[in-house]
Amino acid sequence: MSILQIVRDQSLKSYNTFGVEATASFFVQITSEKQLTDLFSHDLFKKYTHLVIGGGSNVLFTQTFAGLIVKNSITGIKVHEDGDYVLVSAGGGMVWDELVQYCVQNGYGGIENLSLIPGTVGASPVQNIGAYGVELEDVFYSCRAFDLQEGKFEEFLKSDCQFSYRDSIFKNAYKGRFIITEVTYQLSKKHQFNISYGAVKEELERMGVQELNISAISQAVASIRVRKLPDPSTIGNAGSFFKNPIIALPEFEPLVKAYPDIIHFSAGPGQVKLAAGWMIEKAGFKGLRRGDTGTWKHQALVIVNHKNATGKEVYNFSEKIVKEVYNKFKILLEREVNIF
Ligand code: FAD
Ligand code: NAP
Repeated sequence: MSILQIVRDQSLKSYNTFGVEATASFFVQITSEKQLTDLFSHDLFKKYTHLVIGGGSNVLFTQTFAGLIVKNSITGIKVHEDGDYVLVSAGGGMVWDELVQYCVQNGYGGIENLSLIPGTVGASPVQNIGAYGVELEDVFYSCRAFDLQEGKFEEFLKSDCQFSYRDSIFKNAYKGRFIITEVTYQLSKKHQFNISYGAVKEELERMGVQELNISAISQAVASIRVRKLPDPSTIGNAGSFFKNPIIALPEFEPLVKAYPDIIHFSAGPGQVKLAAGWMIEKAGFKGLRRGDTGTWKHQALVIVNHKNATGKEVYNFSEKIVKEVYNKFKILLEREVNIF
């Protein structure tokens, strides 16, 4: 089916996991690559600004979007096995965790630590999703994307994507320019497990797992996440609102003198990663509620919409956090969530 159904004045409330109310002047769901080329020659597309979304789990709408929102709903999986390796290609609109579960069930290792992350396959390279010691770039092979400026498809290899901590070329130089329609991951049938994060190790022990396997890791990660994070279907949120700051050692030394218990991890030679959630908590925000916005009681890094908060209220609350954390630690927090 290649008929484009462009809707006017679409409410975005059910298209963002914060659950804030906002309207898009125009909205279209794309289920095939052919529809994208059709869209490119459509008058509305030429006339208005556009924004691509997947599951809306890493966005905050603070105002009306006076343009066209393109929701990627292209699905499908292709598998190419090659000895101990497997190349899995998935449609950009596929639900990320459905892909994870498919791979776990088939014994393809590499993304089990990324279980239960909301959102779509197509967004996974955008912020180089990561959790529990694994980042997308560890398994990323290539992606196919449609250039919304030039109207043609392009292939990106890992070396083209400029991956770094929760970042990629698609969040910077190519922000808003491409829609990723397919991602190929290189997974393994003889997989090296990663249980470097204490919480995962402890959960596996609690589960009584004797022999490590990807299914057990996936279940352990899912259990921790269900306990610790608010479920967007009942309480609006977009996961971690801020990135964990990475600073150089000379900047870290006075900080650890002033706060000997500051939570920190090595982030490569001469670099230290700070836990933003800990700093937000120490600045007095953990579990704090202001109107219908606030931070999550179990993890201060997550800003929540208790019910009817607006995007502006959430954003203003995040400004307060940035200010107070800066006043206390002289560290400027950077937002991970994409603000529109
Ligand atoms: P959206 O929110 O729809 O879009 C995010 C950005 O990507 C936007 O700028 C959008 O324009 C762009 N984009 C989306 N799809 C495409 C596409 N096909 N092509 C080009 N650009 C596109 N993130 C982590 O990294 N690790 C976690 O552990 C994690 N845990 C989370 C837990 C919860 C409860 C929630 C709500 C969020 C969490 N997140 C986490 C954030 C979020 O789930 C991820 O960033 C996810 O990849 C976003 O996918 P999405 O499809 O919802 O993207
Ligand atoms: P946590 O376990 O309370 O740990 C706090 C922070 O310390 C984490 O953000 C993590 O950084 C870092 N950390 C913990 N153990 C580490 C180790 N062994 N080596 C290096 N860094 C370590 O964190 P949490 O909030 O429950 O989240 C658990 C994992 O899920 C984290 O990886 C987190 O990034 C991910 N997550 C991400 C989002 C999101 O929206 N981006 C939302 C929920 C959870 P890192 O963040 O760098 O891993």
